Amino acid sequence: MNGSMESTMEWTEQQARCREEIRAFVDEHVRSHADAWDRAEAMPCAVIEALAARGYLGSLAPPEAGGRGDDALAFGVLNDELGRGCSSLRSLLTVHSMVVHAVGRWGSRAQRERWLPRLASGATLGAFCLSEPAAGSDASSIETTAVERGDAYVLDGRKRWVTFGEIADLFMVFARSNGAPLALLVEADRAGLTQRPIRGMLGTRASMLAEIHLSGCEVPKENLLAKPGFGVSHVAQSALDWGRYSVAWGCVGIAEACLSASLRYADERRQFGAPLRDHQLIRRMISDMLVGTRAAALLCWNAGRMKDRRDPRALMETSMAKYFASQAAARAASDTVQIHGANGCSADFPVARLLRDTKVMEIIEGSSQIHQIALTDHAYQSDGA
Ligand SMILES: Cc1cc2nc3c(=O)[nH]c(=O)nc-3n(C[C@H](O)[C@H](O)[C@H](O)COP(=O)(O)OP(=O)(O)OC[C@H]3O[C@@H](n4cnc5c(N)ncnc54)[C@H](O)[C@@H]3O)c2cc1C
Repeated sequence: MNGSMESTMEWTEQQARCREEIRAFVDEHVRSHADAWDRAEAMPCAVIEALAARGYLGSLAPPEAGGRGDDALAFGVLNDELGRGCSSLRSLLTVHSMVVHAVGRWGSRAQRERWLPRLASGATLGAFCLSEPAAGSDASSIETTAVERGDAYVLDGRKRWVTFGEIADLFMVFARSNGAPLALLVEADRAGLTQRPIRGMLGTRASMLAEIHLSGCEVPKENLLAKPGFGVSHVAQSALDWGRYSVAWGCVGIAEACLSASLRYADERRQFGAPLRDHQLIRRMISDMLVGTRAAALLCWNAGRMKDRRDPRALMETSMAKYFASQAAARAASDTVQIHGANGCSADFPVARLLRDTKVMEIIEGSSQIHQIALTDHAYQSDGA
């Protein structure tokens, strides 16, 4: 986030220090490699280990479990800065933190003691398995089954588009038991679970997506995170709320990257005897980008502050922030490619990657249309109409 923006939002000393540290990490270890990771469609272990070594994967885990115990705004800062550098890497922080949050919030004491320290250190990578071939926006239509057998549940079904599913160690799986959705923690090495990588995605190409096949996969009842009836309504929704918040800040980061790239290029590139920055139509794109980025950051900051105050309105503020920030980032990325002309369409500049990644942001964690529906309902409820 550039200096002029920081002045409009209040940050604690700890949050400001957190930004300095993660920004240095992103500038040194992430930004210049993101295009290569995108082309390779893989995230190197070394950068995941570096992220883990700095404690970032334990951002939402409590200190007693070895986590950072970050508040929502500090977590937002991490996502903002990682999003500025590489949305694929930021998406690891997103899904892993969704699992950390869910285990911390909904897990039994035994589950918290068993999993949180490993998740906090990054020794165990978590992933979120809700979507299926026939169940996307309508999460209540999942078809994966969990059949009770003695002290276990037996899982059968297919989970699709699982971010970092190729390398995750612990899956939060949503399934139906006698028709009612439950949530189970499933270790990757359980018999009957297969991780099948998905390649050739449009954006966040290094996020190592996988399809997870569950065939007679027996999971002990002690791994039950949400009993039947509470899987989607409670656990998935609260995890998705944090996922949306993470993606929203990640989009602020993308928009910031777009703004910096556009400012630099429009200053250096000359056409019709003047730098692009002097042409009024270019100035319009840059000014829209500046305002969109700032508005997105303010919405995210507001949602974070409400989360930290445990304000129940935080849920809708987060939906608003995700909806707006993903669209602002998409507009900014499209204009950034426009400003770069043919160079923007080439592999010589990172802006094409930013554009591809923003399309994903408008689809994941509730598509723009799903947020529009929820926000309109909310507007009517608030109005009392
Ligand atoms: C890169 C990537 C990573 C992902 N990671 C994960 C993950 O880790 N875990 C996981 O569980 N899932 C993951 N997903 C899946 C993601 O959550 C879904 O793509 C998302 O929920 C949308 O579902 P869908 O793609 O099936 O689209 P659909 O639900 O089929 O929707 C298709 C289109 O119709 C629109 N639409 C749907 N319903 C309505 C309606 N009522 N009114 C108007 N328009 C509507 C949608 O907005 C969309 O534009 C990922 C997806 C991608 C692309």
